[in-house]
Order: sequence, then structure tokens, then C-alpha cells
Amino acid sequence: MVTNKTFTMLKPDSVEKGNIGGIVEKITASGFRIVAMKLTQLTKADAEAFYAVHSERPFYGELVTYMTRGPIVAAILEKENAVEDFRTLIGATNPAEAVEGTIRNMFADSISENAVHGSDSDENAAIEGAFHFSGREMF
Ligand code: UDP
Ligand code: MG
Repeated sequence: MVTNKTFTMLKPDSVEKGNIGGIVEKITASGFRIVAMKLTQLTKADAEAFYAVHSERPFYGELVTYMTRGPIVAAILEKENAVEDFRTLIGATNPAEAVEGTIRNMFADSISENAVHGSDSDENAAIEGAFHFSGREMF
């Protein structure tokens, strides 16, 4: 089923550096409506499950440590073509390759600490959003 929603996390580096406001401004200025949003923190089990697809990759352990070290902002965003348009807005995984003006180009330091998550499919957007938010937290 195709939806018009995506899921994002402003990762611990973004919260630590005081970039919540700057990133949210970019997101809303780009036409995304905030459906749900909260400050929360992933447990080790949460991060391991969230990134299970990468469990055999050499960076998996560091990724779990990074993603659990402090609070994140979790959010569901709505826009026509949300998943694809949000991936365009955040830019390449490696900020050194991210197009000028993208969120990772502006706010990320490295391929590992890259500021934001964006769902890679409608199916994963729905799974990831439902993991963080109950129906009464979505507007
Ligand atoms: N990552 C990393 N090293 C790599 C590739 C990815 O530390 O060589 C981290 C990075 O935080 C990235 C996350 O693992 O955002 C998930 O990787 P994926 O390839 O799914 O990138 P994304 O979908 O976030 O662009
Ligand atoms: Mg990914």
C-alpha cells in the first residue's frame, strides 16, 4: 500500500549539537506536515532491532552505541511522495557526498554520525512509525 507518510529520527548528534530547531525548520519549510513528534531514547534492543538489516556490517556495533547514547527526536511526517522526497531532502548517507543544502550536508559530521534517519520505503515507514507512536499520538 502506498502512503504519503515517512518516519524520521533526529539522531543523538543532532540533539547534542542543538540542531533540533534548525532541522525541524528545514523539514517544515520543505512542505512536510508533522503528524507525530517526541523526544525519546532508544534502548540497545530497540537500536539492534531497528538496524537488524545491518547486523552483519562492520559498523553495526558502533551504530548501536551511537544511536543509544542520548535522546533522539522521533517523528512521522506527511507529504505527497513523502518517503522519496524526504530521502532527497536529507541527502546521501555520507554527508561528504550529500548535495548542498540537504540536511546531512548542513548538519552531519560523518557517514556514521549523519544527523537524521529517513525511512527507505512506505512499508518501513509504517513499521517504524508504529513502533514509536500509538494512534492517539498521531494527528
Ligand atoms: N552507517 C555507518 N557506516 C556506513 C554506513 C552506514 O555508520 O558505512 C550508519 C549511518 O548512521 C547510517 C546507518 O548506518 O545512517 C544506516 O545505514 P543505511 O545504509 O541504511 O543509510 P541511510 O538509510 O541512513 O542513509
Ligand atoms: Mg537505511
